[in-house]
Amino acid sequence: MQPLELSATDIVTAIRRGELSAVQVAEAFLDRIAKANGSINAFLHVDRDGALARAADIDARRKAGKPLGALAGLPVAVKDALCTIDQPTTCASKMLAGYRPPYDAHVVTRLREADAVLVGKTNMDEFAMGGSNENSAFGAVHNPWDLSRAPGGSSGGSAACVAADMAPVAIGSDTGGSIRQPAGLCGITGLKPTYGRISRRGLVAFASSLDQIGPMTRSAADCALLMETIAGHDPGDSTSIPGDVPAYTSLLDKPLTGLRIGRVAEHFGPGLDPEVAHGVEEAFAAFKAAGATIHDVELPHAKYGIATYYLVAPCEASSNLARYDGAHYGHRAEPGKGHRAESGKGSASDFGAFESPLVEMYCRSRAEGFGPEVKRRIMLGTYALSAGYYDAFYAKALRVRRLIRQDYLDAFQQVDLIGGPVSPTPAFKLGEKTSDPLAMYLVDMYTVGTNLAGIGGISFPCGFTKGGLPIGFQLQGPALSEPLLLRAADRYQQLTDWHRRRPTLAT
Ligand code: GLN
Repeated sequence: MQPLELSATDIVTAIRRGELSAVQVAEAFLDRIAKANGSINAFLHVDRDGALARAADIDARRKAGKPLGALAGLPVAVKDALCTIDQPTTCASKMLAGYRPPYDAHVVTRLREADAVLVGKTNMDEFAMGGSNENSAFGAVHNPWDLSRAPGGSSGGSAACVAADMAPVAIGSDTGGSIRQPAGLCGITGLKPTYGRISRRGLVAFASSLDQIGPMTRSAADCALLMETIAGHDPGDSTSIPGDVPAYTSLLDKPLTGLRIGRVAEHFGPGLDPEVAHGVEEAFAAFKAAGATIHDVELPHAKYGIATYYLVAPCEASSNLARYDGAHYGHRAEPGKGHRAESGKGSASDFGAFESPLVEMYCRSRAEGFGPEVKRRIMLGTYALSAGYYDAFYAKALRVRRLIRQDYLDAFQQVDLIGGPVSPTPAFKLGEKTSDPLAMYLVDMYTVGTNLAGIGGISFPCGFTKGGLPIGFQLQGPALSEPLLLRAADRYQQLTDWHRRRPTLAT
């Protein structure tokens, strides 16, 4: 049995039955990381010793007949936006370089309690701001299907490590598409659950009303397996949904007869790559063949999604990131040796006159610690929240957000799920969009609505371009429709093979 080729579900079963040891499994994936990470840069930190020790402990407990958790021995890679007490947590920012959190994120605690084996922390766009992973302070991630292309973002490391068999499953976070878009561009399956379904405690905050953690795996069935461990109420997150969590894995295996899937005509408008359009239409046809019915629905305010998201998210980010001042949190500039103006003139007057040495320290620390995209968001958000502009920008964006949500509520009166593309193009070249922030923002046109409405969405591969790049399909569903999203995606994956394709990597 070759661990790299097994699904997460099969790995867990094989370990429980003693057909594979947890150490064998951990070694197989760690060896793969050692070979492939140099060219892909998916991991910012690999905990080889910790993972092997944990795996050995699981094997010993199994031999002694002691009870094991639901994910015993399953290697898991965790986005570097989630706090881990025993591994650095940097959010791919110089601001948090070397930071060791004093606690584990709730999701990490649950993974450990389920006896999963944490193999490392994955690369991402700095503070999860970006759609290509090029905003990482520690270098871009390379798409395993074509190393000259971006893996998507911001959970690009999590997507790439699963696509390249460096981990069977990974954890990502999705504020405007950061699980679904990289999953789509890397040919894997990613679930953005309903807002509040999974605790955000210990997820470094980007935009708190939009952020949601979720699983990134090779299949919907594996997403369901992970959800059973990571979803559920946490009193430590005031937005966490109370109540029990469904047994996702046992709700999968049902036919799709009678399922109503909506199709939004505007999703097929300008900007959509023809090969992506073709793959998506084929997926609709496959769903139809599987017993679903396809219906035209309208999301009249979806065209304002990008404008709304790029106000709400930066506004919240500017507030959340205020804590990184070099005193309370984050990198601290050294007195007198701080930031110098890009002109090279270099003096305290780079920032004008400082009110005090403390203010100077704050300014220099933030100037040095944050990268350009994070600074852009902080400035956009601060501007949009400032007196005089608040009503015209932030308050208005909140009103449009409400309309976008209402569109979904109306559409879900007519259909059970909405299908469509995840991303307008397949994986684009590294560097292709870095000089044009607006072009990068438009990549999120199909994904931000889900977050603005607080509902669920899943992305999975539905074909490949002639050039061999994966094409993603997205299903969006009403709040707490994860069982249905997972069931529909799982059924599609029973009937197709796209999710089984793996890139060939010269390592
Ligand atoms: N690409 C979007 C952004 O840059 C989404 C990011 C995310 O979901 N974390 O904000």
